[in-house]
Amino acid sequence: MDKQMEALAQAMAPGRKTVFFGGAGVSTESGIPDFRSAGGIYGRQYAYPPEVMVSHSFFMAHPDEFYEFYRREMVWPRAKPNAAHIRLAELEAEGRVTAVVTQNIDGLHQMAGSKNVLELHGSIHRNRCMRCGRKYGLEAILTTDGVPRCECGGIIKPEVVLYEEELDPRTLTAAVDAISQADTLLIAGTSLAVYPAAGLIRYFEGDCLALVNLSPTPMDQKADLVIRGKIGEVLSRIQ
Ligand code: NAD
Repeated sequence: MDKQMEALAQAMAPGRKTVFFGGAGVSTESGIPDFRSAGGIYGRQYAYPPEVMVSHSFFMAHPDEFYEFYRREMVWPRAKPNAAHIRLAELEAEGRVTAVVTQNIDGLHQMAGSKNVLELHGSIHRNRCMRCGRKYGLEAILTTDGVPRCECGGIIKPEVVLYEEELDPRTLTAAVDAISQADTLLIAGTSLAVYPAAGLIRYFEGDCLALVNLSPTPMDQKADLVIRGKIGEVLSRIQ
């Protein structure tokens, strides 16, 4: 582990460009459950599997049930950035991290101070009326019961990418650009099971692909270094 830590510190040294690619595991240390860990959302009993409940067709057919699940499981308004978010923001300010590519929708990287955050799956903080396009913040979702409605009567939909929906092409392009220009790609807190997001790492052309995850991933064999640990603890040790 210490040899691996040393190798990671060197790979992220000043003068090198590191891109961080993260998932739900980055926010577990902030108290937000991930999907696939023990205790994660996938282990809970719902009438439908989570990928059905967060799909576009389910939203359109059953917005009331969608919002019940969404408010209970996907929105954590009191969560605060943890050591991973904070250290990444510092490393960006030092010019060592050039982009944070995240599958998360919680906005914690920005809250920690990161500037170049590419949110592949959107954000709970952006919401929009499906009829007139008016934009709303998170409070529009949290201060209502049932299906939130716009002044015009339309349904307000979170700008999060639901299953069956396409990723924003500009965000994808920016992520590909950042990843393809990086010396180090640090992947953390993701099972790499959700596509097309997980497929972006194939654009990496640098010399150190590092993985920090609590459980094995399909990329472990291809990585230059693998650390089985908590990302907040690992990043705190990067000087
Ligand atoms: P996932 O739940 O499939 O996998 C999370 C991975 O992180 C697991 O392999 C787990 O072992 C690891 N992990 C958990 N805590 C960790 C820690 N402290 N340090 C290192 N590793 C840790 O998550 P995914 O791959 O991101 O896919 C789930 C999808 O659902 C994504 O789109 C994700 O963004 C979304 N989601 C987002 C949030 C959020 O915004 N916080 C929460 C749940 C799900």
